[in-house]
Amino acid sequence: MTKRVLITGAAGFLGSHLSDRFIKEGFEVIGMDNFITGDEKNISHLASNPNFQFIEHDVTEFVKIDGNLDYILHFASPASPIDYLKIPIQTLKVGSLGTHNLLGLAKAKNARLLIASTSEVYGDPLVHPQSEDYYGNVNAIGPRGVYDEAKRFQESITMAYHRFHGLDTRIVRIFNTYGPRMRLNDGRVIPAFMGQALRGEDITVFGDGSQTRSFCYVDDQVDGIYRLLMSDYAYPVNIGNPHEISIKDFAEEIIKLTGTSQKIIYKPLPVDDPMQRQPNIDLAKKLLGWEPKVDRAEGMKITFDYFKSLSQDELFKSEHKDFEKHIKR
Ligand code: NAD
Ligand code: UDP
Repeated sequence: MTKRVLITGAAGFLGSHLSDRFIKEGFEVIGMDNFITGDEKNISHLASNPNFQFIEHDVTEFVKIDGNLDYILHFASPASPIDYLKIPIQTLKVGSLGTHNLLGLAKAKNARLLIASTSEVYGDPLVHPQSEDYYGNVNAIGPRGVYDEAKRFQESITMAYHRFHGLDTRIVRIFNTYGPRMRLNDGRVIPAFMGQALRGEDITVFGDGSQTRSFCYVDDQVDGIYRLLMSDYAYPVNIGNPHEISIKDFAEEIIKLTGTSQKIIYKPLPVDDPMQRQPNIDLAKKLLGWEPKVDRAEGMKITFDYFKSLSQDELFKSEHKDFEKHIKR
């Protein structure tokens, strides 16, 4: 019997790559999305695939699926700091009400549910690198709190369903992941720098650029998530690439990679921007036999080739996504 998987956030960056992977593995995939930060074109190549079905739906409303379900991957949520600053209530709702709906669906269908958590549950970490047993340093009432606390609640309610109802659950803590199909103007650092290089604009480094991140290529991330789903481990697992770099050094790397001659300009550091971030992936290595394979130079080249292939219209569509038309009031 073909296994059926529901992927929420399927029209987004990670959701669309996950859809591809599950199709490749022989699953029947039901993609669900309300397009608030995603794009139909991310899944247009799957439209005629008989194993792919798409449902346009906001998961903060009751989620109804006909027939059986074996797995649910809950990836719907704004993920870029600029996105969740612009739609804070939707961000809180999709992590809380949306997760509650999907837990209820998983219970009704006796399906295994994997939720997309994040390195942001560690906040601006005081422990470095971050391992799963670190409780984090999050400002609940700061501007990033809407995302961080929604994700912390998501982990909490997922563990409650696991303990109280015996639901089969998995939690992945995703660290900065990049690759083709990121939205060029979502404000995250990689599309931001690559878009600026392609438009001939200065590269905007926030703060003095000494803050660090560790970037994971999307194929590695998807493979880690796939292995975690198929494992029998219900507690959170970090998936990310431990190769850490400061944002200033990264800006210089992008200038070299793109062969452009932009200068770096400095802008104020956003409130509560974490100063350092690097996953400890010992658990993923031990439990899943997983570690990243694609190094930054290779992954960035593939990603830059993707952004280069976009039309001039898309490249110069500098205004941020129009969220209004996706918001039900
Ligand atoms: P994305 O914005 O590209 O994708 C998110 C998708 O969810 C979009 O298609 C959006 O339209 C959809 N969505 C949002 N709210 C919805 C709702 N109420 N109902 C239905 N669909 C909704 O972001 P992404 O980078 O692909 O992130 C996917 C998931 O992974 C998110 O949960 C995010 O928190 C998590 N994550 C991503 C990263 C990363 O580096 N990419 C890091 C940590 C966690
Ligand atoms: N950043 C930057 N310039 C930009 C966009 C982002 O210097 O144009 C910085 C940002 O302040 C943060 C890092 O790059 O320190 C990563 O930001 P991103 O939005 O990608 O995600 P975060 O890891 O903060 O969630």
